[in-house]
Amino acid sequence: MIQDIAPSRLINHFENKKPSAESVMMCFRENGLLASYDGEKRALVFPRMRDFQQSVSAVFLFTIDREDYFLAFGHADAIHGYSYYGIREIRELKYDRNVGIFAAYSAYHLWKWYTANRYCGACGAKTAHDAAERAVLCPSCGTKVYPRINPAVIIGVTNGDQLLLTKYKTGFSHNALVAGFTEFGETLEETVAREVMEEVGLRVKHIRYYKSQPWGIAADILAGFFCQVDGDDTIRMDSGELKYAEWVRREDIILQPNNFSLTNEMMKLFKENKVKQFYLQEEMPC
Ligand SMILES: [Zn+2]
Repeated sequence: MIQDIAPSRLINHFENKKPSAESVMMCFRENGLLASYDGEKRALVFPRMRDFQQSVSAVFLFTIDREDYFLAFGHADAIHGYSYYGIREIRELKYDRNVGIFAAYSAYHLWKWYTANRYCGACGAKTAHDAAERAVLCPSCGTKVYPRINPAVIIGVTNGDQLLLTKYKTGFSHNALVAGFTEFGETLEETVAREVMEEVGLRVKHIRYYKSQPWGIAADILAGFFCQVDGDDTIRMDSGELKYAEWVRREDIILQPNNFSLTNEMMKLFKENKVKQFYLQEEMPC
């Protein structure tokens, strides 16, 4: 999955530091990121502070392999050898390791959050970056805002030897699973049951947690669950959200073109007949 970068590790601890000449600079414009793709090494390469001709205002993002990554604000100049890559385009490229794409998605998450919080939502004053932690602070009314992370679930609904596959009506065109955002006042398991009912009209049982995944381009934390259809397995698809929803036998499952997503890992797990173990867990006592 995208976050699987071992033996590298993304360290998200915040420090109020300034970029050095060697710091990695993440520069976004609209939906593009300044980068270059090294076809030989199959890796994304980002500019360094020393590549900039003029001074750049920047905030520290994270560290990977002892390299500091910064988010650059407000520059527009092209840098020789680099161009803007769309965030979807970045997903289509081939990589030997996931470090570059995971850094890109994580930086994108914070870029969207910083740019959406330039003004205070409570009083409208211009905000400032907090010096002590990853937050923006309103100097006028004291409101502090932390990075927004949206919880959402990915759901593998099983029916014997079949898995429920979907395709979204817009956006990503490959096979997917039922998915949706957690609403206020509900548990993740309740989100699973509600989303399956809303999108495909099915009741489910034996809801079992699998794994989670940070998905920065949607500011999400995804929680993957497997569950079994309960009773009638007739699909009643919500055609406002999906263009396809069918029971697919494990041998007929077509995976996504790369293994970045939790969705794809879950489809692969079912295809390889490794899901049954999750249903053998005892129900936790209330
Ligand atoms: Zn304020």
